[in-house]
Amino acid sequence: MDFALSPAAQDASDRMWAFMREEVFPAEPQWAAYLREHGEHAHPPVMERLKESARARGLWNLFLPAVSGLANLDYAPVAEISGWSPVIAPEAINCQAPDTGNMEVLHMFGTAEQKKRWLEPLLAGQIRSAFAMTEPGVASSDATNIETSIVRDGDEYVVSGRKWWITGVADERCEIYIVMGKSAPQAEPYRRQSMILVPRDTPGVTIVRHLPIFGYQDQHGHSELAFDHARVPASNLLAGEGDGFAIAQARLGPGRIHHAMRAIGMAERALALMVERAKSRTAFGTTLADQGVVRELIAQSRIEIDQVRLYVYKTAWLIDREGAKAAQSEIAGIKVAAPAVATRVIDRAIEVYGGAGVSDDTPLAYFYAWARVLRIVDGPDAVHRRSVARHELRRERPFAGLEVHRRQRRVTYPNRVWFGSFKRSNRRRPRSWPLRARTDHVEEGRDTRRSDRANDCGPAVGARRSVRQRGGADRALRRQPGGLPRGSQAPGTPWPGRNAPWPARRPVHQAARPPAGSQGDGRLPRLPEGRIAPARGRQARRRIVLRRARRRADRRR
Ligand SMILES: Cc1cc2nc3c(=O)[nH]c(=O)nc-3n(C[C@H](O)[C@H](O)[C@H](O)COP(=O)(O)OP(=O)(O)OC[C@H]3O[C@@H](n4cnc5c(N)ncnc54)[C@H](O)[C@@H]3O)c2cc1C
Repeated sequence: MDFALSPAAQDASDRMWAFMREEVFPAEPQWAAYLREHGEHAHPPVMERLKESARARGLWNLFLPAVSGLANLDYAPVAEISGWSPVIAPEAINCQAPDTGNMEVLHMFGTAEQKKRWLEPLLAGQIRSAFAMTEPGVASSDATNIETSIVRDGDEYVVSGRKWWITGVADERCEIYIVMGKSAPQAEPYRRQSMILVPRDTPGVTIVRHLPIFGYQDQHGHSELAFDHARVPASNLLAGEGDGFAIAQARLGPGRIHHAMRAIGMAERALALMVERAKSRTAFGTTLADQGVVRELIAQSRIEIDQVRLYVYKTAWLIDREGAKAAQSEIAGIKVAAPAVATRVIDRAIEVYGGAGVSDDTPLAYFYAWARVLRIVDGPDAVHRRSVARHELRRERPFAGLEVHRRQRRVTYPNRVWFGSFKRSNRRRPRSWPLRARTDHVEEGRDTRRSDRANDCGPAVGARRSVRQRGGADRALRRQPGGLPRGSQAPGTPWPGRNAPWPARRPVHQAARPPAGSQGDGRLPRLPEGRIAPARGRQARRRIVLRRARRRADRRR
């Protein structure tokens, strides 16, 4: 397997790194200062400079394969690099959510008129957009709950309802909302929803408030919206009535790659900050980097980041090869895995920074808030895990390994026998006692179990137990038409069964030996392969014993 980036991805990544070092990182303090001075939702002029520069460097709209020519796998490392500065870099290269998803929707489902009116200015970075699905009144992780109504009235649709957590609305450049609502309440559940384009200035649309995340107000905001009989032309409908669900599905595939890779970028930056701090901070006479505990935090972070990156690459590769539908399980999986890794790594970095980690002297506190939020945005973890599990339950497997498991259960634990108990503590076996599968006890018809038990375990209990089990096997065989196979103990031999009286203090070698004369030469009678059926109920034991006896009889014939 080749893990190297393609030439196109390598080239885009190199250009992106140069852009980050030369322009984006230096712009971060200017950006923050402007917002402090002009308000949280202001639009810092430095962004327009960055956008111009990104275009000139050929780093524009790289997320859209049809425009950039980059496959999802090629774009993934660029998204990761943009995650090093998650507030500024994605917008600077016109690859920020939710605009990316909205542009994909317009690209895939928009009419020529819709594309001209909304897609072109979005691709040019002149306007921004929002995607309005979640509602305060219902559990919106289940999109069938959505209650906003989209009702046809002549040449128009009337939109009524309430939405919240709608990202992008607080930015004054956000001119268009893609609204999901119910257009056919009586249709089957996944054909009830439609999506429609609602311009910001439509009468009846009100911005109620901008919601903070852990106290932070994002520049572009996450807002609550009220739609009070907002009327839009019928031509604003995306695709057809009832297609809302299908559009939502198509929108989320590549978008999750972007989110996941940006989360990995944040985690990488947190790790870089962690390492810097560990090397430069001294406590108790040595740098933090010399403390084993801190090294462990660093190492664990590297391991987790590299694991999850490969998972995302695999998902991107699958989408490129077979489409988003074939990669549904992986898309859901990375949505859970990447933010979880980012949250853990950022948390470790905060730990290494001490008080500074939770202040706004470092980007870590904001990163932490955002990484945690990513576990809810675009559907909470629980819903994606549910989807991964559904795929896993449907998947066909070449082998399940139940047989192996059963054999392992047939291992002899002498002290379990000794104590006659199945308690966990009693299953432990001193090192000196060999761990043997029961099949080992049978050699050429000779059952060596007696000596194992007698020598290793001591008292008659062990022997008695084995004899009891043999009694069970023989009883089962006696019920077989045609009687016992050749070489087995003859039917009717007084062979102690479960309820047979047994002298407790009888020496082991006698206890385990068959009654005198049954074999005549001191050998133990042959048992059906000398095995003891796993304790899984009488019927099951009997079936297994009979099957083996039949097989052996067949072989002899
Ligand atoms: C910062 C931010 C930005 C957002 N941006 C947007 C946006 O732009 N547009 C938009 O439409 N929405 C947006 N959202 C909303 C987000 O997509 C929803 O919050 C999310 O889908 C969950 O919906 P809900 O809040 O209604 O939670 P609910 O559906 O009420 O779920 C609450 C909890 O219930 C549990 N749960 C739900 N289903 C299951 C299940 N099947 N099994 C087990 N447990 C379950 C989960 O723990 C879940 O967290 C944003 C949210 C945030 C925080």
